[in-house]
Amino acid sequence: MPDTVTTPDPVQPATVAIDGPAGSGKSSVSKQVARMLGYGFLDTGAAYRALAWHVLARGDDTADADAVTGALDTFDYAISLDPDDHWVRVGDTFVTAEIREPRVTAAVSGVARVSRAREHVTALFRALVAASGVPGVVVEGRDITTVVFPDAPVRILLTAAPEVRAARRSAELTGEDAAAVAEALHRRDASDAQVVDFLTAAPGVVVVDSTDLDFDRTVDAVIDVVRTATGEN
Ligand code: C5P
Repeated sequence: MPDTVTTPDPVQPATVAIDGPAGSGKSSVSKQVARMLGYGFLDTGAAYRALAWHVLARGDDTADADAVTGALDTFDYAISLDPDDHWVRVGDTFVTAEIREPRVTAAVSGVARVSRAREHVTALFRALVAASGVPGVVVEGRDITTVVFPDAPVRILLTAAPEVRAARRSAELTGEDAAAVAEALHRRDASDAQVVDFLTAAPGVVVVDSTDLDFDRTVDAVIDVVRTATGEN
């Protein structure tokens, strides 16, 4: 029998999976946690937004599942994992700001409902983390703890009371009517909740409720969960 030569697997980055609804502070908290740990940061909602932007740019409607599926073939997506240098690109166009526009936000849930689209971006997320070249990545979204990285060593559900989330979101979107922002957020939550349950923690997922925590205390609470899970003190 010839000797078998085994090539060791390349070291996979440690994954910190964080799920939660809009306005829970997920994105800014995850980014700060990534900075403090020296990790990369992957905002998965950006891919759904970029795909919605791409569908709209083709003159299609995101409520049309066939049009969304048809747009996947030409969806050339790239995103920075550097928490201090955020950009998102589709083809040759940097869409970092455009994907936050209300017209894209209003269209994104349509894309998120299409299972072929979810499978496509899930494969992208796994590939981005595997190729990241950093010791770890904080990945935030709606289905990261359950579907994208169910085996991540650290899995967190970041929640906050609905009225607190609406207030935070309208503070971010200065210039827009607070009541309209709250109404749009609740509508999007209701639509998203039909696709992914991001309000209940799956077994093994630690809940961090940020309702009564300011930004720094929320970051500390998440770092505590990471340290406990990884055995660091
Ligand atoms: O997090 P963000 O608000 O940017 O997400 C935009 C949309 O992308 C969500 O409203 C949801 O429809 C979808 N999404 C998802 N699964 C994820 C991340 C985002 O369905 N992991």
